[in-house]
Amino acid sequence: MVSRVIPVDEFDLVIFGGTGDLARRKILPALFRRFQTGQMTKDSRIIGAARSGYSNEDYRAEMKAALEEFLEKESRPAREVKAFLERVHYVSIDATGKSGWKELKALMRPGVVQAFYFSVAPSLFGPLAERLQEWKCALKDARLVVEKPFGRDLETARQLNKTLRDYFDESQIYRIDHYLGKETVQNLMAVRFGNMLFEPLWNSQHVDHVQITVAETVGVNGRGAYYDKSGAMRDMVQNHLMQLLCLIAMEPPSRFDPDAVRDEKLKVIRALDPVPAENIARGQYVSDDAGESYLDQVGNPDSATESFIALKIQVSNWRWAGVPFYLRTGKKLKARQSEIAIVFKDAPHSIFGQDVGRHRNILTIRLQPNEGINLRVTIKEPGPGGMRLVDVPLDMTFKEALGAESDDIADAYERLIMDVIRGNQTLFMRGDEVEAAWAWTDPIIAGWKERGDRPSPYDSGSTGPEDAAILLHREGRKWREIRA
Ligand code: NAP
Repeated sequence: MVSRVIPVDEFDLVIFGGTGDLARRKILPALFRRFQTGQMTKDSRIIGAARSGYSNEDYRAEMKAALEEFLEKESRPAREVKAFLERVHYVSIDATGKSGWKELKALMRPGVVQAFYFSVAPSLFGPLAERLQEWKCALKDARLVVEKPFGRDLETARQLNKTLRDYFDESQIYRIDHYLGKETVQNLMAVRFGNMLFEPLWNSQHVDHVQITVAETVGVNGRGAYYDKSGAMRDMVQNHLMQLLCLIAMEPPSRFDPDAVRDEKLKVIRALDPVPAENIARGQYVSDDAGESYLDQVGNPDSATESFIALKIQVSNWRWAGVPFYLRTGKKLKARQSEIAIVFKDAPHSIFGQDVGRHRNILTIRLQPNEGINLRVTIKEPGPGGMRLVDVPLDMTFKEALGAESDDIADAYERLIMDVIRGNQTLFMRGDEVEAAWAWTDPIIAGWKERGDRPSPYDSGSTGPEDAAILLHREGRKWREIRA
């Protein structure tokens, strides 16, 4: 199988925050990889923009160093890096002042796709959007890409949406949730809507429950000050896990187009029940390898912010009535593992009697590691000795199934940036979706504050606090293993 790379239209992509961590670590390496495949055409340009007073040459040297730091040596031949960097430019600009805007305006070319990536603090979104219009840098159909966090509650998200929409149309705004750009996440839609096999079973009649796990081994690292104001609920659940839940729970859209998909996701968010306190378990890690606790790392001994959260969520509609969705995510856990598991109900009657034990089909969509899909099915245990049943996996790791081609599976940022250039908003969150997600999240967080709830301690390298296990145990269920 040879994948076809269809070049995108010629573009000018301006990265505000072009000297920052995200630009160095993700955006530039992603663009380089698309350049290597031929998807980024040779006349397209990347324009880094930040206050630092670099020349084009200084900036190219910085970005060369970034590619060297974040890409394997064998994947970045010097000739290709050189050719790529010739397409990279820099303008020194102040998002809140006047300097640099005339120079940026002079650089922009009419007749090519224009995209402006706001890889800066959200407080700069307004000043940037305003100046792009004021200095006439943006053409009528220019695209804005904005990064998370998109607000910290409903009020701030509304304010951000309003600020952007004062200057740009919703159809021009691309809110990135990189989870939506992952190959497996899109495969979730392909599996659901491209096969006859699963969709008829995708409902409360056949599904016992759904589990979504995003487990990280890292702690807050250098992000302690930011993270402590956010926590797992804001940082992971409101956006990434919520998006995964939507893709599982949504009705089939009539077409795979931006508004059809996003309308269906929005309906799911609006169908979420409020979550009572007894359906939430929060945790804080107490020590890591160096003996440091969450509290040490954020430098706030009184912090009540959670580094782990598990929730039981109900989607109140005909399809999902009575089917719990269990979500959990946390830092400093036993292993790095992200997966969605659809746990089907037991067969209604066992013709093999009670002795064969309990067997269930489970469809697992693995996001990391080893992106792939696994279906657990029940078969007869081989050999003589009567009818004994055993569960075996039908396992498809994309790398194995697709062979060499899978080495070319684009990283989420590669795919999403190319979608921006193509003008395809399907994998980006719409403003009303983000607001609806905050409208559901806010009362949960407000409840903790009102009650003075504190997260429970859990050991680094564990699977989270005991309360999380109880959340399922009390209903005769258990979490899927987090495997080291
Ligand atoms: P960062 O390393 O602090 O970079 C911030 C960038 O903004 C720098 O390039 C800085 O350059 C520029 N900047 C600051 N003030 C400016 C101004 N007044 N005018 C023009 N440029 C200005 O931040 P980051 O980690 O790259 O993150 C950028 C955004 O992405 C943030 O909103 C963050 O929350 C989000 N995000 C980051 C990550 C990540 O992995 N890093 C992941 C998801 C989301 P100068 O100082 O030279 O002006």
